Amino acid sequence: MLPDYRVRQRDFLLEISRAITAQLDLGEVLRRVLNASITMLAGQVGLIALRSSEAENQFVIRAISGVSSERLPELNRLLQELVLDAESGGDVASLNEKLRRMAEAIHPGLRQGIALPLVFAEEALGLLIVFRSYISTATANDLQVLQSFADQAAIAVNNAQLYARIDRERKRLEAIVENSADGVMILDDDLHIERFNQALARMTGWSSQDAIGRHQDEVIIWERIEKPDLRDALDNGWPFRRPEGAPAETLYVEGDLQRRDGMTISVGITYAPLLDSDGNLTNIIANVRDITNFRRTQELQNEFISTISHELRTPITLIKGYAVTLQRDDVEWDPEVVRDSLGVIEDEADRLSALVEDLLTASKIQSQRQVELNLVDVRLDDMAARVVERFKTQTDMHHFTLNFPPDFPVMQGDEVRLRQVLDNFISNAIKYSPQGGTIEVGGYVEDDYVVVYVRDEGEGIPEPDLNRVFERFYRVDGALSRKTKGTGLGLYLAKAIITAHNGTIGVESQLGQGSKFFFKLPL
Ligand code: ADP
Repeated sequence: MLPDYRVRQRDFLLEISRAITAQLDLGEVLRRVLNASITMLAGQVGLIALRSSEAENQFVIRAISGVSSERLPELNRLLQELVLDAESGGDVASLNEKLRRMAEAIHPGLRQGIALPLVFAEEALGLLIVFRSYISTATANDLQVLQSFADQAAIAVNNAQLYARIDRERKRLEAIVENSADGVMILDDDLHIERFNQALARMTGWSSQDAIGRHQDEVIIWERIEKPDLRDALDNGWPFRRPEGAPAETLYVEGDLQRRDGMTISVGITYAPLLDSDGNLTNIIANVRDITNFRRTQELQNEFISTISHELRTPITLIKGYAVTLQRDDVEWDPEVVRDSLGVIEDEADRLSALVEDLLTASKIQSQRQVELNLVDVRLDDMAARVVERFKTQTDMHHFTLNFPPDFPVMQGDEVRLRQVLDNFISNAIKYSPQGGTIEVGGYVEDDYVVVYVRDEGEGIPEPDLNRVFERFYRVDGALSRKTKGTGLGLYLAKAIITAHNGTIGVESQLGQGSKFFFKLPL
């Protein structure tokens, strides 16, 4: 039969061990260990220090009972001395002396400190110290009980630390998934959605709440898909077994997806399988990228190549045609015919070089994001009058009016570039009002700005296209623009030129009524 007090001791030890090993919150584990130790050693004050995660040899007090926190810096310092002494093999007397000094620093009434290392897997995780107001040597039994208690405590501390580390890791991964700019979705092996991040919610219009729990086919609805899709791949044995250690083979699927609101977006989805240690599929991680803009750019590029080729081919065909005709040996051409033909060749060559110039400027803007300006004094009213004179000769159907006040100011600007803008406005006004009508070119001063505008009575521009006409290569998709020549570069260049002058460019238009293009420059 065990004596009574040892039964109590053992029961206490068991109960406390259970309580602490079932607990995963480190702070709570430390608190319980500390309170139990103080009770068991009939002490008044106690502390637990753990090895710091930053510095290998440093111990930091992580739990304390019966000491005001103001004492912490000093105690931490004394503790450091103790640890150094212990690790360099200091003898018991010197360690006891250091413990006594710590006890005194806490309260003059405290006489003794008992320290127990918390060791797990041969590694000292920390140190538990209990202080008491009397000096008494512990019996061999006391020490044994305490040691087994400390061992339990070390396991609990280790578990709690591991758990805290895993929890941190989990939160970090969660934050990465949640805040990733790409859509991320985690599927179970039945293709039910387990996770659905914010980016994917934005892309698809499905809230993560609504999406989670559904089968992926309810949420990822393809309007058009390039086969093989996920289903085909799974039917064909994806993910294929790979040699040990080799990364699993991902699957890339691309197509047009129907959003929850019915709109369409183009996406590319990379599916990565997650396998268990037996090679069975447990999850699929899907990374979804919105490639709508990329697709649009590609379409624009294709469109651009076809318009540019067309634009280049027309003058080249004309030049070639006239040149071949003029060279014919069997005909004696009138000098007038020769002159006219050479005139056409020259005009078409000019058109070609203007086109090439535009392309070069556009690509320069694209890479340098700026237009270089050559600033001089400019009279925009005079310039407008000259440009109008030139265009008048090109059309019989349009009537031009000029509307500038007599005191219209002289301003600083790049003459060549600004003329290019006016040219573009006026040639568009002609091109896009095939029924003719009045084209008004005018200007006025408003606050510290001058405004110059070109108004036509042409086909106008649909509201959704109003802002887009200034984009590179953008052309309104209408019957007229399909018939008229153009590259969609003119207004893009005009905007870059006006922006370089610190001005703004804009358009007001009503479909079927006409358009008013204007720019505003600071005086
Ligand atoms: P381009 O005329 O070579 O196509 P622009 O950049 O000058 O290129 O114009 C872009 C598009 O804006 C045109 O294709 C046309 O659809 C539209 N647009 C420009 N000016 C007018 C206008 N005055 N009236 C109607 N539509 C216009």
